[in-house]
Amino acid sequence: MSNIVAIVGRPNVGKSTLFNRLIGSRKAIVNETAGVTRDRNYGKADWNGKEFSVIDTGGYSFNSEDVFDEEIRKQVMLAIDEADAILFVLDVQHGMTDLDEAVARILRRTSKKVYLVANKADNSDLIFAANEFYSVGIGDVVYPISSVNGSGTGDLLDAVVGDF
Ligand code: GDP
Ligand code: MG
Repeated sequence: MSNIVAIVGRPNVGKSTLFNRLIGSRKAIVNETAGVTRDRNYGKADWNGKEFSVIDTGGYSFNSEDVFDEEIRKQVMLAIDEADAILFVLDVQHGMTDLDEAVARILRRTSKKVYLVANKADNSDLIFAANEFYSVGIGDVVYPISSVNGSGTGDLLDAVVGDF
């Protein structure tokens, strides 16, 4: 059985940066899913000797929030379907937006394991600011990480592969 981790969230929160950090020097496979207008990237990762697959739920590029709502619903539903664990990425430098809340509403209904990831927590003030995301009410823990400098990703991965 393969362990699949999907990275979801609105555009610009740092999903692809996290994806690239997780797969490291391995190559991503781009998959254009029929019926889904945006591509998804698949890659392999491992942590402490445990291998897993990662899905980056990909580059949405719209301007209209109406279109976005429908598209993001599809992407998140697909991720819930495919994945064993979901990384719900938020941007601590930007705070919670309506689009983040739209994703949260969908994720609150799944029985799959969801990890709340407060990305762009590049320094100790921002790590502290990540506590605001406890109010989102998903998961027991908020994981502040910086996908750019790597801080916090170890604790997150310990938790994720601990379930595998
Ligand atoms: P995506 O649309 O969710 O895939 O987001 P991207 O991975 O493309 O990142 C969007 C922007 O946020 C880029 O300019 C990244 O360099 C930046 N970014 C991603 N992660 C971090 C982080 O941990 N800290 C900071 N400061 N910027 C980040
Ligand atoms: Mg991306």
